[in-house]
Amino acid sequence: MDAYTIETRHGAGVYAKQPISIVRGQGALLFDAEGNAYLDCTSGHGVANLGHAHPRVAAAIADQAQRLITLFETYPNDQRAALMLKLTSLTPGLDRVFFCNSGAEAVEASLKFSRLSTGRKRILAAKRAFHGRTYGALSATFAARYRQGFEPLVPEIEHVSYNDPEALEEAMNENVAAVILEVVQGEGGIYPATPQYLETARRLCDQYDALLIFDEIQSGFGRTGKMFAYQHYGIQPDMLTCAKSLAGGVPMGAVLLGERVRNLAPGVHGSTFGGNPLSCAAALAAIQAIQEEDLPRQAAEKGAYLMERLRRLPSPLIREVRGLGLMIGIELKRKVAPYLRALQAQRVLALNAGMNVLRLLPPLVITYEQLDWLLQALAEVLQRDLEESDA
Ligand SMILES: *Cc1c(COP(=O)(O)O)cnc(C)c1O
Repeated sequence: MDAYTIETRHGAGVYAKQPISIVRGQGALLFDAEGNAYLDCTSGHGVANLGHAHPRVAAAIADQAQRLITLFETYPNDQRAALMLKLTSLTPGLDRVFFCNSGAEAVEASLKFSRLSTGRKRILAAKRAFHGRTYGALSATFAARYRQGFEPLVPEIEHVSYNDPEALEEAMNENVAAVILEVVQGEGGIYPATPQYLETARRLCDQYDALLIFDEIQSGFGRTGKMFAYQHYGIQPDMLTCAKSLAGGVPMGAVLLGERVRNLAPGVHGSTFGGNPLSCAAALAAIQAIQEEDLPRQAAEKGAYLMERLRRLPSPLIREVRGLGLMIGIELKRKVAPYLRALQAQRVLALNAGMNVLRLLPPLVITYEQLDWLLQALAEVLQRDLEESDA
C-alpha cells in the first residue's frame, strides 16, 4: 500500500489528502518517490521560508540532537538564552519571550496574558481573522467553517471589521483587555493592513490602556519583505505571536512581550516542550540564515517581480492581485479549487485562502527561474474555464 492509501484509511480524516506522496525536499522543490519535482508555493503554509533541507538548519538540528534535546525551562540553557537574545534584538521594545510549540499555543498564551495583565475580559479580533484552532485561538478566529460544531467557544471575544478604523473605535471601551490583529490577513484572503488602521488600533489601545497583539505567525521571518510585517508600518505592538517558520520547520511558537504586559509570575502559564534546546538551536540557525542570506530583501524583490507580472496576466478570471513581499493572493471571479488542481497537474503546489483566493507562499529562497515556471503555469491555467466539476 502506498502512503496515500494508508493515510486516507488511517488518518483522522480532517485533511483533504492529495494523491501525491512527498519523500524529500530541496530549496523550493519537493520530490515524490519516483523523483518527480514539484514547485512548492505553499511552504507548508509559511513554515519553509528557508526552503527545504536547508544545510545550516539540518546541521544545527543534528548537532544539538547529540548534545541535548529536552530541558524544562526552569533550567537555563545556552541555546535558549542565545535565542532569547537573538529574537529580542529583532524586535526593539519587546524584551521578553514566552516559548511554546505552535501558532495556536502562541495565540492562546497572548490571550491569557492579556487578561492576566489587565484584569479585563473583553478581546477584540477582526472579521476574516485566523488565529488557530485551540479553544482560545479558535474563539478569535472568525470564519464559521472553523467554528461550527465546536461551540460554546470562549466568551467575550468579538469580531470587528478589518481595515475599518471607525468600527474599531466604536467597539473599543475600558473593558477591552486586548486587540488582536494579523498585520497581513493570511487564511482570510491575503489582506495587508492599511497604515491608518494600525495607527488607530495603537492609538485606541493607548487611550483605553488595552494591549495590542500582532499575530505574525504567517507573515513573520522575512515573508513580507521585512523581518516582521509590522516593521513596514512603524507601529509597535505590546505582544507579537510567532511560529511557523521560526525554527526552520521544527515545531516552535513564541510570544514576544512588551513592558506593558504584566503579572507574569512563576506558575501562571507554561509548556512542557516550550523552549526545548533542539527547537532553540534550529531557530537560531534559521534566523542566522535568514539574516545572512538577506531573505527579507530577497522576499521584497522577488515579491515585486512576481506581483508586477501577475498584475499583467491577461486572464479575465482575475479580480485582484494583492499582498506584501512573497505573501500574495490572487482573487479569482471563480472558485479556486479546480485551478489549484490544474496547477498541481503542472507540478506547481499552491494554496487557497477561502473560496476565491489563490494564495502563493513560496520559500523565500525560490529562484527567478522557478518564479518564471510558476508564472508560466499560472498564465496557462488561468486561461482555462474550469468549474468545480471539471476536477
Ligand atoms: C497558521 C496560523 C496560526 C496557527 O498556527 P498553528 O501552528 O497551526 O497552530 C495562527 N495565526 C496565524 C496568522 C496563522 O497563519
